[in-house]
Amino acid sequence: MNAPDLRIDTTRPCPSCGSEARAEMPLFHRDEWRMVKCRDCDLVYLLNPPGYEALVEDFAWEKTSADEHLARLEARPILQRADLATRWRHKIGRKPDAVRYAEWFGGGNLLNVGCAEASVQYPGFTQYGIEISAELAEAANRNLAEQGGYCVHGPGAEAIREFPDAMFDGVILRSYLEHEEHPRPVLEHVARVLKPGGRAYVRVPNFNALGRKIFKTNWVGLRYPDHVQYFTLDTLTDLARRTGFTVKVLNPVRLPLDDNINVLFERAAA
Ligand SMILES: [Zn+2]
Repeated sequence: MNAPDLRIDTTRPCPSCGSEARAEMPLFHRDEWRMVKCRDCDLVYLLNPPGYEALVEDFAWEKTSADEHLARLEARPILQRADLATRWRHKIGRKPDAVRYAEWFGGGNLLNVGCAEASVQYPGFTQYGIEISAELAEAANRNLAEQGGYCVHGPGAEAIREFPDAMFDGVILRSYLEHEEHPRPVLEHVARVLKPGGRAYVRVPNFNALGRKIFKTNWVGLRYPDHVQYFTLDTLTDLARRTGFTVKVLNPVRLPLDDNINVLFERAAA
């Protein structure tokens, strides 16, 4: 593994529009990490991301624990109401996701980018994954193989190239895009691997959240250096448009108070 600190002086253009014009955001600098705002599209991003190698372990840990935490939170009220609660809990684990994915994607082939160990199966789908941690990717492969899917190990922007055009009915990008140093090529490939009319579920921290404005540098969504983009609905929508998608907001009423943006990226039907 290369020493991550070799990358500190490596800067990048705006990962959404490619502009080199930017304003420093000194309030959000921390240690050697420089936060900037693109002067052309307003995207807030880390100018000197640490590179994939440095992120592997943190990313894997955060992804796994965040998924588990979220699963517990989301599962509770709905499972309490549902007659099928016990059965679903034992067989699937996270009923709300299974229900939502069925509603959004129908069924068929599902690609989970940043899938961790892919321990949850969704009825009606064959799930495939991409995972940057070798250990988790191996576990994911075992879990997905039972249903006929598999996991590709590697960074998203590289691993997604291995999947053929128009293979998927749905793509999950959950707590992923904020970590991805190259979000634009990943999304261009998401558009490519989706069937016409297919959708991707995107969840990212909401830089316009009230909490960010109140807590400023103590806001929960700030993670140095593993979050390398900080989207608002506007900058996320810009990036979607550049990569061939329209955006449907899933939490429109709560959005200003919500620390996360939840949207569907919709690919136009051919
Ligand atoms: Zn830009």
